[in-house]
Amino acid sequence: MRSVALAALKASWDGGWPFDRLELKLREEVRGFVGEWARRGPLWWQVGNQMVPGFYRELARRGWIGLHWPPALGGSGMSRVATALLLEELNYGLAPDGGLIPAVAFLGDLLLACGTPEQQQRWLPRLARGEVVASLGLTEPEAGSDLAAVSTRAEPREEGLEVWGEKIFTGLAHQADVAIVLLRSEVQVEDRHQGLTVCLVDLHQPAVGVEELKTWGGWRQNRVVFQGAKVSWDEVVGEVGQGWQVLTTLINLERSAIARIGLIRRLLEETWPDHREGTRDWLRLWQEAEALRLLNYRMAQAWDLGKRVRPFQGSLLKVRAAQLLDEVIDLVRDRFGLMGFAFNRSPEMAQILDAVERNRALFTIGGGVPAVQKDAIAKFGLNL
Ligand SMILES: Cc1cc2nc3c(=O)[nH]c(=O)nc-3n(C[C@H](O)[C@H](O)[C@H](O)COP(=O)(O)OP(=O)(O)OC[C@H]3O[C@@H](n4cnc5c(N)ncnc54)[C@H](O)[C@@H]3O)c2cc1C
Repeated sequence: MRSVALAALKASWDGGWPFDRLELKLREEVRGFVGEWARRGPLWWQVGNQMVPGFYRELARRGWIGLHWPPALGGSGMSRVATALLLEELNYGLAPDGGLIPAVAFLGDLLLACGTPEQQQRWLPRLARGEVVASLGLTEPEAGSDLAAVSTRAEPREEGLEVWGEKIFTGLAHQADVAIVLLRSEVQVEDRHQGLTVCLVDLHQPAVGVEELKTWGGWRQNRVVFQGAKVSWDEVVGEVGQGWQVLTTLINLERSAIARIGLIRRLLEETWPDHREGTRDWLRLWQEAEALRLLNYRMAQAWDLGKRVRPFQGSLLKVRAAQLLDEVIDLVRDRFGLMGFAFNRSPEMAQILDAVERNRALFTIGGGVPAVQKDAIAKFGLNL
C-alpha cells in the first residue's frame, strides 16, 4: 500500500513540469552521479553549507556550475529551469552542494544582471571552471534584517575603496576567494538606503581576517574583519552609492535559490507512514511542496523568457519551504518520536532529521527572517 501510493506520487512529481529533452537528460545524469556519490559521501547533512572540493570540482567538470550562463562566459547555455532542476536533484540526493549557490545565484547571476561586461568576463568563466569560491557578506552585528543599517565603511582612495568594519554569519568565508560585500560609502545621507555600495572583496589579502563562528547546528559560519582591505574601482558592482538597487536584485536571486524543495520531497518520502492512518498529513505537505516546486520552475521560466520575476515570489518560496521543513520534522516527532523512528525505520534518516532540526536557523533565518519575507509578500504581492 505504502509503496504503491508513493510510486504514484513520485511519478506525479516527476511528470509535474514539462521539461524538454535536454533537461530530462540532465536529470538522469544528475541522479546517476548523485546516487554514485552517496555511496562514498560525505553528504550534505554531514557537512552543511561547506564546500567539498572533490564534489565541487566534479560539478565544474560536468559543466553544472553556471548551467544557464552563455557559453561565451563559460556556461553551458541551458535554461534557468535546468539550474533549478539541478538544485532540486542535488537536494533530493542529499549531495554536498555547498559553494554552488553562492557561485551561481549570488556572484554569477548578480554580475549577469548588474555587472559590467568586463566583470562578467573576469569572473564567470573562472566560476564555471570551479576555480573561484564565493561568499556573501551582508549581515553585521547591528544590521541583519535591516540592511540599510550596515556600518562597514568603504572609504575612497585614488586606486579604489578601502574597507573597514566587520561582517558576521558569512557562510563559506573560510573557504572562499571572494566576498560580495555591502558597504556604507556615504555617511551623511537623507535616506539610509542611499550611500551604500556593493563590491567584490578579495579575501586572501592580509587586511582581511576570518574567524569561525560556531553554530548550534555544528555547521561553520564566520566573522570577517576588514582592516583597510583594498578593492579596485573595477570590482564595484553597479555604481558607488547605488548599492541598494544592486542589493534588491541580489536578495531576489538568493531567496529563489535557497528553498530546499528537493530535500522536502526526500524527507517526506523517507518518512511516509506505513499505515493509512496519518497519511493525510503527509499528503498535505507533499501537495504544498509540489505547489512550491511549480512556483520555483515558473520563476525560472520567467527569467528564461526575460519576463519580470516579482520579488515577493522568492520570499514566498523561501518562507514556506522553511516552514514545510519544520512541519515534516514535527510530524515525524509527533507520530514516531525521533528515537522510535531511528529504531523502527532508519537510523540514518533519524540523523538527517536531527541535522535538519539543529540547523533550522539556516532555513528559517538565513536569507531573511520570516517577518521580513511576509512584509515583502504583503507589500509587493498583496499590495497591502
Ligand atoms: C545559518 C545562517 C547562515 C547565514 N548565512 C549568511 C551569509 O552567508 N551571509 C550573510 O550576509 N548573512 C548570513 N546569515 C545572516 C542572516 O541573513 C541574518 O541572520 C538574518 O537576515 C536576520 O538578521 P539578524 O540575525 O540580525 O536578526 P534581526 O534582523 O536582528 O532579527 C531579530 C528579530 O527581530 C525580528 N524582526 C526583524 N525585522 C523585523 C520586522 N521588519 N518585522 C517584525 N519583526 C522583525 C526577527 O523576526 C527576529 O525575531 C546567515 C544566518 C544564519 C542563521
